[in-house]
Amino acid sequence: MKTYDVSCPCCGHRNKDLYLEETEGWMECEKCGEVTQVSKHFEKRVKIPVFRMEDLGKVMAAGLI
Ligand SMILES: [Zn+2]
Repeated sequence: MKTYDVSCPCCGHRNKDLYLEETEGWMECEKCGEVTQVSKHFEKRVKIPVFRMEDLGKVMAAGLI
């Protein structure tokens, strides 16, 4: 089973070798004891906004630039 290293959002402590798949993303910080769900962070990748040329044309036509 895969393990994850997650930084606590509250205190920043690095919690290592967490079985997030088993707990559905929930983890308890070993330092401050805060319980947080981090699945959203490790499952989804951050989308990078992409400007398409056609969108850019519309924006320019609307006089926004
Ligand atoms: Zn913590």
